[in-house]
Amino acid sequence: MSNVPKMFGSLVFNETVMKDRLPTATYKTFKNAVLKGEALDLPIANIIANAMKDWALEHGATHFTHWFQPMTGITAEKHESFIAPTADGRVIMDFSGKELIQGEPDASSFPSGGLRATFEARGYTAWDPTSYAFIKDGCLCIPTAFCSYTGEVLDKKAPLLRSMCCVDKAAKRILALFGETTEKVVTTVGPEQEYFLVDKDMWEQRRDLIYTGRTLFGAKVPKGQEMEDHYFGIIKPRVLAFMKELDEELWKLGVLAKTEHNEVAPAQHELAPIFTTTNVASDHNQLTMEFMKRVALRHGLVCLLHEKPFAGVNGSGKHNNWSIATAEGDNLLSPGKEPHKNTRFLLFLAAIIKAVDEYQDLLRVSVASAGNDHRLGANEAPPAIVSVFLGTELTNILEAIEKGKKYNPDAAALLKLSGDIIPALTKDNTDRNRTSPFAFTGNKFEFRMLGSEFSIAGPNIVLNTIVAEALEQFADKLEKAADKDAAMKKLIKETIVKHKRIVFNGDGYTDAWVKEAKSRGLLNLKSTPEALPYMEAKKNIDLFVKHGIFTATEVHSRVEIMLEKYAKTINIEALTMLDMLHKDILSAAVAYTNDLLGSATAKKALGIKSCFEAELASKLSDLTSKMYTSGEKLAKALKGVEKCADMKAEANYYHDVVLKEMELLRSYADAAEELIGEDYLPYPTYGKLLYGVNN
Ligand code: ADP
Ligand code: MG
Repeated sequence: MSNVPKMFGSLVFNETVMKDRLPTATYKTFKNAVLKGEALDLPIANIIANAMKDWALEHGATHFTHWFQPMTGITAEKHESFIAPTADGRVIMDFSGKELIQGEPDASSFPSGGLRATFEARGYTAWDPTSYAFIKDGCLCIPTAFCSYTGEVLDKKAPLLRSMCCVDKAAKRILALFGETTEKVVTTVGPEQEYFLVDKDMWEQRRDLIYTGRTLFGAKVPKGQEMEDHYFGIIKPRVLAFMKELDEELWKLGVLAKTEHNEVAPAQHELAPIFTTTNVASDHNQLTMEFMKRVALRHGLVCLLHEKPFAGVNGSGKHNNWSIATAEGDNLLSPGKEPHKNTRFLLFLAAIIKAVDEYQDLLRVSVASAGNDHRLGANEAPPAIVSVFLGTELTNILEAIEKGKKYNPDAAALLKLSGDIIPALTKDNTDRNRTSPFAFTGNKFEFRMLGSEFSIAGPNIVLNTIVAEALEQFADKLEKAADKDAAMKKLIKETIVKHKRIVFNGDGYTDAWVKEAKSRGLLNLKSTPEALPYMEAKKNIDLFVKHGIFTATEVHSRVEIMLEKYAKTINIEALTMLDMLHKDILSAAVAYTNDLLGSATAKKALGIKSCFEAELASKLSDLTSKMYTSGEKLAKALKGVEKCADMKAEANYYHDVVLKEMELLRSYADAAEELIGEDYLPYPTYGKLLYGVNN
């Protein structure tokens, strides 16, 4: 293994490189502008651009790109070479400040939700100097925000940066009440990324994986995850080689890849980075997903990031560990040794509880997608009901505050493992609760509802904005109070009384919780089409507008984009099923049935009485007929989409009608697959896919 500290960030135009290569005055101006969120003038940008170019050329780059995050949920780039012609017919390598600060990609083919007609194709990308430029494939990538000619944001980065500013402003007001000041308050995120790895040769044989990223057919395997032997299990050499190479690629890009392990389902794995500032974490998570896919291919593997690649075993999610900290590194969600006396902590905690309760619908919307619908509420991922887990200690503290009682901390919070041989461990103030969608885990919250394929920007935009709103409301009240301490305690108490319905420490997978949540008045938005319209509720539009995150038009356009994406996804899945039915499954079933019948006839001719072939052929024939009819019904259902009046009706139609037909078709095909001989099957089974990476 090469020298990791030397390798780390070697392809990043980071602090060290800037200090090295920029004149001190330029560096200072740059840092100051970043801190204050101010624009840089062109002369300064020219100096930075030139230094960036020289550094990039030395690292083998020939091109640059504005790297942005349109509403597709993935990243986009358009490579431009550095070449500039000279008068004598040669070229020099050139990169100007203007090219660094602003780009103009054609915006017409990115989703805009009706914001922009194709003839108004112009869009702009603007440099985000808070995230470092880096080199990928010989191309200098400049992280940017993306907006339309008329200024509407068309991406996920601009609103994310805005939401971070809101937290900064609001949290500083709260800190000021305690006489504390800081350069900046930031939100931090560490996203744990789950994924599956399957053999590439097998992947190529399945149209469903190729077109949709998940299996649409497939009988269950005799052994799934019930033995619980894969989680944290020994990592197979081929997977280990992949993980090592992935780590190295990510380290070069300055991504803090830290933890790699096997997950619950066979062939499922996870990578967790060390947390960092939210917008950097978001950029880095995009790079992580991109490199997972690329590096896998180099090892003859395909990385599946879909939320539910296989029925019957766990799907993949992304745990968004989130906290608020000062630029100096003070974690504002750290309860300290005596949380009950830590008013600052309790105030932030109360604000978060209030935010999650008041905007549970927005949090649910932020994780809604066709893929994630297979997970949420399916007893493997958090339920679709949003609630907060606090653990015993914090819950007891809040209860004491609510009832006006004195809180007596548990004296010995030490765990003794093994006499005096292993030193006593300090007990965390929360146990793990795997079923909670939003769990306090010691000094951060873990938002667990995200799908594995998500850009984390969306959920964090919501999280930051709703918490900023709650903090702002707190600050409005407290700044006016004469006795700050008394006012804070009163406010914490009032907030707990009002919003405690959102706190739930029990098992989120039970039916009892579904009932209880209903009686508490909590939302249970089971599907994407049901959830998305909530984003347009007046209180939610007001929130976004007030904080300058989205205009009302932008909110409507985003809902439109997400509804459309949902409808398109199901449509592609349905068409793929029909494709597989006619091209793969029916013909395989017929071939097998034919051979069975041939054998049956031969036996009969010889007078052999015992003959299973005819019975099996009859069973298969029955299933294939059902499959065929079911396929016809699905095709007809797809035609029905035309009658839907608008995007909402269409998304609902796909959910209520098309998905049902797909499920039915799958049930017949899976039953048939169980009966068909391996040699006849047109594609690798679940068994092969899930247990196929063995060396
Ligand atoms: P686990 O969830 O398995 O208990 P850890 O608590 O160690 O694991 O961390 C999980 C993730 O949470 C890691 O990505 C880690 O960097 C991140 N994390 C830890 N502290 C914070 C924080 N203050 N803010 C955001 N993320 C954090
Ligand atoms: Mg975790």
